[in-house]
Amino acid sequence: MTDDLARGLEAGGRFRCDGCGNVTRFDVVATTRTRRFHHFDLGGDRRVEEEEILEQTIESVTCRWCGRADAVHVESAPAGA
Ligand SMILES: [Zn+2]
Repeated sequence: MTDDLARGLEAGGRFRCDGCGNVTRFDVVATTRTRRFHHFDLGGDRRVEEEEILEQTIESVTCRWCGRADAVHVESAPAGA
Protein backbone atom coordinates (compact mmCIF):
# COMPACT_ATOMS: atom_id res chain seq x y z
CA MET A 1 0.00 0.00 0.00
CA THR A 2 2.67 2.51 0.99
CA ASP A 3 4.81 1.51 -1.98
CA ASP A 4 1.88 2.29 -4.24
CA LEU A 5 1.40 5.70 -2.64
CA ALA A 6 4.99 6.66 -3.46
CA ARG A 7 4.07 6.55 -7.15
CA GLY A 8 1.74 9.48 -6.55
CA LEU A 9 4.76 11.74 -6.02
CA GLU A 10 6.44 10.69 -9.24
CA ALA A 11 5.95 12.14 -12.69
CA GLY A 12 3.06 10.43 -14.43
CA GLY A 13 1.21 9.62 -11.23
CA ARG A 14 -1.18 11.53 -9.03
CA PHE A 15 -3.39 11.01 -5.99
CA ARG A 16 -7.15 10.79 -6.07
CA CYS A 17 -9.47 10.76 -3.05
CA ASP A 18 -12.35 8.37 -3.52
CA GLY A 19 -14.20 10.09 -0.71
CA CYS A 20 -14.67 13.45 -2.44
CA GLY A 21 -12.91 13.37 -5.82
CA ASN A 22 -10.04 15.68 -4.85
CA VAL A 23 -6.96 15.28 -7.08
CA THR A 24 -5.02 18.41 -6.16
CA ARG A 25 -4.51 18.85 -2.40
CA PHE A 26 -3.04 16.30 0.02
CA ASP A 27 -0.98 16.19 3.20
CA VAL A 28 1.83 13.69 2.70
CA VAL A 29 3.72 12.35 5.73
CA ALA A 30 6.97 10.70 4.69
CA THR A 31 10.28 9.58 6.07
CA THR A 32 13.03 10.57 3.67
CA ARG A 33 16.75 9.78 3.65
CA THR A 34 18.66 12.25 1.53
CA ARG A 35 22.11 13.29 0.40
CA ARG A 36 22.45 17.08 0.11
CA PHE A 37 25.20 19.25 -1.23
CA HIS A 38 25.43 22.09 1.30
CA HIS A 39 27.35 25.10 0.02
CA PHE A 40 28.68 27.37 2.79
CA ASP A 41 30.29 30.66 1.93
CA LEU A 42 32.99 32.29 4.03
CA GLY A 43 30.53 34.81 5.43
CA GLY A 44 28.41 32.09 6.97
CA ASP A 45 25.57 31.99 4.48
CA ARG A 46 24.59 28.58 3.25
CA ARG A 47 22.27 26.92 0.84
CA VAL A 48 21.43 23.45 -0.40
CA GLU A 49 22.45 23.24 -4.04
CA GLU A 50 21.63 19.59 -4.74
CA GLU A 51 19.42 17.06 -3.07
CA GLU A 52 19.16 13.39 -3.88
CA ILE A 53 16.50 11.21 -2.29
CA LEU A 54 18.14 7.93 -1.29
CA GLU A 55 15.15 6.37 0.42
CA GLN A 56 11.59 7.45 0.97
CA THR A 57 8.72 5.87 2.85
CA ILE A 58 5.27 7.37 2.55
CA GLU A 59 3.55 6.99 5.90
CA SER A 60 0.22 8.54 5.05
CA VAL A 61 -1.57 10.62 2.45
CA THR A 62 -4.53 12.61 3.74
CA CYS A 63 -7.06 14.47 1.63
CA ARG A 64 -7.10 18.20 2.42
CA TRP A 65 -10.75 18.47 1.41
CA CYS A 66 -12.48 15.74 3.40
CA GLY A 67 -9.70 14.63 5.76
CA ARG A 68 -9.77 10.97 4.84
CA ALA A 69 -6.52 9.04 4.76
CA ASP A 70 -8.07 5.69 3.89
CA ALA A 71 -9.64 6.67 0.58
CA VAL A 72 -6.63 8.00 -1.33
CA HIS A 73 -5.20 5.98 -4.18
CA VAL A 74 -2.74 6.59 -7.01
CA GLU A 75 -3.78 6.87 -10.62
CA SER A 76 -2.07 7.89 -13.84
CA ALA A 77 -1.92 11.64 -14.39
CA PRO A 78 -3.74 12.81 -17.51
CA ALA A 79 -1.39 13.09 -20.47
CA GLY A 80 -0.17 16.58 -21.16
CA ALA A 81 -1.30 17.95 -17.79
ZN1 LIG B 1 -11.34 13.70 0.03
